[in-house]
Amino acid sequence: MSNAGERAAAVVRPEIRALSAYVVAKAEGMIKLDAMENPYGLPAALRERIAAAVRDVAINRYPDGSAERVKSALRAAYDIDDDIGLVLGNGSDELIQIITCAVARPGSVMAAPDPSFVMYRMNALYTGMRFVGVDLAPDFSLDMGRWGDVLARDTPALVYIAYPNNPTGNLFDQSAVEEIIRLAPGLVVVDEAYQPFAGRSFVDRVREFPNLLVLRTLSKLGMAGLRLGYAIAPRAWTDELEKVRPPYNLNVLTQAVAPLVLAEHALLADQARAIREERSRMARALAALAGVTAYPTDANFIVIRVPDAPAWFNALKAAGILVKNLHGWHARVANCLRLTIGTPDENDRLLATLRALA
Ligand code: PMP
Repeated sequence: MSNAGERAAAVVRPEIRALSAYVVAKAEGMIKLDAMENPYGLPAALRERIAAAVRDVAINRYPDGSAERVKSALRAAYDIDDDIGLVLGNGSDELIQIITCAVARPGSVMAAPDPSFVMYRMNALYTGMRFVGVDLAPDFSLDMGRWGDVLARDTPALVYIAYPNNPTGNLFDQSAVEEIIRLAPGLVVVDEAYQPFAGRSFVDRVREFPNLLVLRTLSKLGMAGLRLGYAIAPRAWTDELEKVRPPYNLNVLTQAVAPLVLAEHALLADQARAIREERSRMARALAALAGVTAYPTDANFIVIRVPDAPAWFNALKAAGILVKNLHGWHARVANCLRLTIGTPDENDRLLATLRALA
């Protein structure tokens, strides 16, 4: 019998051993409303073009290390000027790793609202940064009193602000985020993963603030499986991040397919519009349910507070509907469920099941 367990225990850092690996819920055969995916597929003609492009891909060769075609397609689709830097990641998850890795010094501080996207905190732990979570106010807004204290006392090298926030769905007050960017001594990453469903963005402000980086992803727009995220910042920042990025982080298949889908960005925008319309319908229907509080959202999901979230989560699961149970994450989201907006049919099934529970 190998003693690999003992050897691993002796070598792997205790803070890593204390973790449990991220568990992705099994969703086969379920209505999947847990992961903020776009529920709509691509039109047949575009799928054909993708199939043809993939057929010709040289998978025996390494990909283009700088993914120039993908960058040009992103710049064209989203009007990103050439003088602004762009770094691509295998999902924005990887960019969070790259950014954190580039700035982390032992014991330096990362600050983020709490609760927010869990990978910020995880990356602080991976890199030896000290994570300071700044509790949200009860209405999920930024608590600027606390932020003033944290910025002055802990002088974070890195601040992550999800805009809109995950898991709460709301868009923070714009002037509050501006104040954090102005007061922060280090880099502020405004993570706009849910921007396609929100009315506001900081992307046009990266020239104005010398310490602002905006993070985007194509995942919520309909390409979660391709794994493509991008960071937009002055070149002084992106040149440094390029030194940390693994040279072939975007594989050949993603590089072949992403430009074809990005050329159809109007179609993706239409799908995002349909999701926003369904979101309005769902918000009204959820607000009408007895015992359910539906929170305001600018993302492709809605957070509801119910009398007993674990029981409701299990009842939905038994009915074949997978949502995210937020109960136990943080006191602010006690008894909350996060419901991704699906197709109208999926949303109707969800509503019918919730009505039976309410
Ligand atoms: N940022 C936020 C705020 C998120 O919620 C997510 C996905 N849950 C991500 C980044 C990562 O997205 P991806 O790696 O798919 O780009």
